[in-house]
Amino acid sequence: MLYLEGCNLLNPDGRLKDAAVVIEGGRIRAVGSRLETPPPLGAKRLLCRDLLLSPGWIDLQINGGFGFDFTAQPESIWQVGARLPEHGVTAFLPTIITSPLAALQAAMQALRAGPPVGYRGALPLGLHVEGPFLNPEKRGAHNPAHLRLPSLELAKDWLPQNGVRLVTLAPELPGALEVIRFLAQQGVVVSAGHSLASWEQAQAAIEAGVTCGTHLFNAMPPLDHRSPGLAAALLTDPRMRFGIILDGIHVHPGAAALAWRAAGKRLFLVTDAMAALGMDPGEYVLGDQQVVVDDTTARLRDGCLAGSILRMDQAVRNLAEYCGCTPEQACAAASTAPASVIGESGCGQISPGARADLTVLTPELQVVATVVGGEIVFMKGNLWD
Ligand code: ZN
Repeated sequence: MLYLEGCNLLNPDGRLKDAAVVIEGGRIRAVGSRLETPPPLGAKRLLCRDLLLSPGWIDLQINGGFGFDFTAQPESIWQVGARLPEHGVTAFLPTIITSPLAALQAAMQALRAGPPVGYRGALPLGLHVEGPFLNPEKRGAHNPAHLRLPSLELAKDWLPQNGVRLVTLAPELPGALEVIRFLAQQGVVVSAGHSLASWEQAQAAIEAGVTCGTHLFNAMPPLDHRSPGLAAALLTDPRMRFGIILDGIHVHPGAAALAWRAAGKRLFLVTDAMAALGMDPGEYVLGDQQVVVDDTTARLRDGCLAGSILRMDQAVRNLAEYCGCTPEQACAAASTAPASVIGESGCGQISPGARADLTVLTPELQVVATVVGGEIVFMKGNLWD
C-alpha cells in the first residue's frame, strides 16, 4: 500500500491543495484532503508537500526513443517503455509508420508476447498504425515505396484484439471511407492525417467515423480562409480531438495558442518522438529512412521533419508557456484528453477505482516521480518519509 501525502492534486476540473492519495492493488483507493484521508496502517509514505500530482501522462504517438525505432525493432517497445517514466509518461501507443506489412505483424506479436519478467515501466496500451494509407503528397518522412491505397483486405486484422487502437489515414483517398467505417465499427479510433482533405472531404470522413486528427497543422494544408480544409474541420468540430507536437518547431507557439483557444480540452499532446529521443545528436533511423538529428530536430537528408526529439514533460511546459493555460489544464492535455481519445476510462483522472498511474511534478512542471500501476517506476531524489 502506498500513501502520497501533501500534494496539490491536479484534476481536469481544478486542483485540491494539501491532498492525500491511497493506492492499493494497483488502483487508487481513496482521494481527499490530507486531514480527512489519514494513512492506512502499514502504508509506505511518500512526502509530496508542495508538489503537483497529475494523472499519468499518455503519449498516443511515439515512434521510438533511447536509440530504438519501434517500426524497425518492435521488440524494443519494452526497452523504451522502461525509460519513458523519466519523462512522466505512464502509458503510450507505440507508433508503427508506413513500412512493409510484416513490421506491423511483428509489433502485434511483440505486444502479444508481453513484457519481460520483472518489467517496470510505462504501459503500452496498443498500437498506433500511421500509414500506409497516406496521401503521397503529404507523406512527410514516410517512405513512398510502402504507401498503399486504402483497402479493407489490408486492414482486416487491424483490430483492438490484435492490439490496434488508433489508425492514421488520409480520408480523401479512394476507398478510405469504407475502411474508416470498418475500423470505427471494430472500436479502432480513426484519425485523419498526412492528408490533403478539403473541408467537404473532412465532413464526409467525420460522417464515416473519424473522431480524431493526427499532429494538427503538420502534414496537412495550412489553414486557408477560402479553402479551410482538414485543419479547420478539426479545430471547429466539437466532436473532433487532435494531437499536436509542441516542440516549438513543428508548430509555431502562436498557432498552438490558436489551437488551444479553439479546442481547449479537445487538444492532446503527442511527442511524435523518434529513436534519438534521450540520445545525442547523430544519425538514426525512422522505419527504413535515415534521419539526421541535431540539438533540436530530426530530419531526412532533404530537410523534411522526421518525427521529433521532444520529451512529454517539455511538451507540457511548452503548452503552459505558449497558451497561458494552468498546470492542471496542461497536465490534462497529456493525460485526461488522450485517455478519452482511446476510451481508457480507467486512466486520465485521479479518482477512486482508477488505475494508479500518476506523475509527480514540481510547481515548475519538472518530473520528480512517476507511478505506474501503483509502483514507483521513477524517482528523482528521495521522497520517502
Ligand atoms: Zn506523421
